[in-house]
Amino acid sequence: MSEKMSMTSKIMIWMVAGLMVGTLINNFAADNAWVQTYLVMGLFHVVGAIFISLLKMLVVPLVTFSLICGVCGIGDISKLGRVGGKAFALFMLTTALAISLAITIASLFAPGEGFELAAASTGTFSAPVAPPLSQVFIDLVPSNPVAAYADGNMLQIIFFTILFAICILMIGEKGQPIIDLSERLNMVMMEVVNVVMHVAPIGVFALMAKTFSLQGMSMIVPMLGYFAVLVSVLILHATGTLMILLKLFARVSPIQFLRKMRTAQIFAFSTSSSNATIPVTLQCVEKRIGVDNSTASFVVPFGATINMDGTAIMQGVATVFIANVYGIDLGLSGYLTVVAMSVLASIGTAGVPGVGLIMLAMVFNQVGLPVEGIALIIGVDRLLDMVRTAVNITGDAAITTIVARSENSIDMDTFNDPDAGHAKDVKLPMHS
Ligand code: ASP
Repeated sequence: MSEKMSMTSKIMIWMVAGLMVGTLINNFAADNAWVQTYLVMGLFHVVGAIFISLLKMLVVPLVTFSLICGVCGIGDISKLGRVGGKAFALFMLTTALAISLAITIASLFAPGEGFELAAASTGTFSAPVAPPLSQVFIDLVPSNPVAAYADGNMLQIIFFTILFAICILMIGEKGQPIIDLSERLNMVMMEVVNVVMHVAPIGVFALMAKTFSLQGMSMIVPMLGYFAVLVSVLILHATGTLMILLKLFARVSPIQFLRKMRTAQIFAFSTSSSNATIPVTLQCVEKRIGVDNSTASFVVPFGATINMDGTAIMQGVATVFIANVYGIDLGLSGYLTVVAMSVLASIGTAGVPGVGLIMLAMVFNQVGLPVEGIALIIGVDRLLDMVRTAVNITGDAAITTIVARSENSIDMDTFNDPDAGHAKDVKLPMHS
């Protein structure tokens, strides 16, 4: 095993250690004030929060410079349109497949039938107001790009950066220094990602330890049917549907793909945020899988925002579950509305923790299911968010690979090399 190989394994070991420490605390030290104050809400919380901020800190500059390089690298606006069009169509297709699979399997196993509503969670959930679809389109264009960058509004950032990069190309030779500078800045940001990757084991440990200290496994028991069906469909989609599409359209080995995506999946799992995981997804897709920057820099952040297969699956299973609990028959047209709604809802909502529940509220409002039913599934949602975020970014990367293959912008030698692109050792410059 090479030195570099050990980075992914190291993160994985620390992740499992965090899970175990958290579970032990939840079982044996839930009432210990010292442990709760100084470890869970002290050390774990602080280290975990710093780690998430470190990751988020990378997203906006990395996406910007990488996208400028990507667009200028393509150098041809019609190709850019084609890549965007293919990616968009595939994102919608996989989301629709994901939620259809979820509804079908959930209907077969019927979780929620005979569920004791009175004995169930008494939490509350108030529905946020969903923005109308027209607003989603209007919001694509930032009225103030600086505000878009400051807020980290990914779709607006993508829109502005692409337009900016196209205009760099349009001014011809004079634009070359800007392209060169962006390339250098992109290299710097990639190096920052490398540095952050080296503290990842500790960050991942802290996030896992905190989450599992607070979220005991016992809350899963009354919700076991819902939990088991949802996790099974998530795994089936990530290792089945997506891999079939990858094999059919990209003609590459799904096993190799999944192996290379492991680091990004662990990051998504422990942060519950597709957005915060963008730097790692980008690195896995470019350096490990071999997709050219011109495709990856555009499709990965685009996917992190509009493509959420895992979240769509949660919506499908949750809809069937709540409909069963309340004894409501949605019928075929109701379920078709759910499919259409969740595909549309995924476009306008960003990949951040917990956003799935907000999308679910929009779907419930549309088909007339009681939104307060969402309170039932809130208890287990934090854990499920972790799994579905890992599925979300797997979908983003699979589609990036398919699009890249169709555009001939993937290096198959890199793809086939199991050791390609492992995290580099960090050599800090020192004064001698
Ligand atoms: N946490 C998910 C993501 O970032 C979204 C969600 O399902 O809540 O992709």
